[in-house]
Amino acid sequence: MTPFVDSQKQRVLVVDDEPINLKILGQALSGDYQVLVASNAEQAIHIATTQQPDLVLLDIIMQGMDGYQTCRALKQDPRTVNIPIIFSTSMDSEEDEVKGLEAGASDYITKPYNLALVKARVRNQMQLKKKTDLLEKLVSLDGLTEIPNRRDFEQQFEVEWRRAQRANNYISVCMLDIDFFKQFNDNYGHGAGDICLQRVARTLMDNAKRSGDLVARYGGEEFVVLLPEIDLKEAKLVAERLRESVEALAITHQFSACAGVVTISAGLATCRAGFGMNKGLLLEEADRLLYEAKQQGRNRVIGDTYSLDVS
Ligand SMILES: [Mg+2]
Repeated sequence: MTPFVDSQKQRVLVVDDEPINLKILGQALSGDYQVLVASNAEQAIHIATTQQPDLVLLDIIMQGMDGYQTCRALKQDPRTVNIPIIFSTSMDSEEDEVKGLEAGASDYITKPYNLALVKARVRNQMQLKKKTDLLEKLVSLDGLTEIPNRRDFEQQFEVEWRRAQRANNYISVCMLDIDFFKQFNDNYGHGAGDICLQRVARTLMDNAKRSGDLVARYGGEEFVVLLPEIDLKEAKLVAERLRESVEALAITHQFSACAGVVTISAGLATCRAGFGMNKGLLLEEADRLLYEAKQQGRNRVIGDTYSLDVS
């Protein structure tokens, strides 16, 4: 990428199997948007999943996978489901339009292009996308701690789980819970409790920062951390670092039966997300291990691998 590219510009992916169409649309749109191009469905799907454009302009008639199939594929993938699609076609019967909208497209443009109309339709979709993104961000955040909420965790877990499945890779889930938090709230008040939650959330975020790592507030004083692509040994190091970082905050907690400061307990479950594995069971296993950490005296991490073969 050149340093002159405005990173704030929204991005449009133009997909067409005829170079002349890519050129015409590219020239028409490059003033207002960053333009990505693809000349077939496979390329388009790859670029859409890896680069997350804000809009796809999709040709219907292409060699190999056509536009309808491409549209369905993008709408079935959680990574691309929210990217709006405008079909671009020389067909102009109402039937084709219906078929396109049913496949999940947001709008239509027809060839030969009326560029003023193309720009107007693209602008409309881009404005909608901006609003949707903002709303999406707001509903994905926990209001108190301003870190991702449970809803966002569920979505990211689905994405990372699929990624791990495709690569037959490791994925870990760590459930954490502040020790004796009820006693903290009861004795220091809910205002202090809220500040405690915010500080714990912040330090957890600061200590799980690889791309793909996700820290979310799961509910109450419970947090969940998603750690893709590392095995149990490495995940345990991260979980232990999280535990230590909370203890190091040194938030006084005279009413804790395990330490004079605020601490957390953690249950960490790791598996290879191969065929037949189940992400719901992995989460349950993390919850069970968290319970075990509580039973064993709190302020500790209990981690284990989860496998269907063993049970
Ligand atoms: Mg074509």
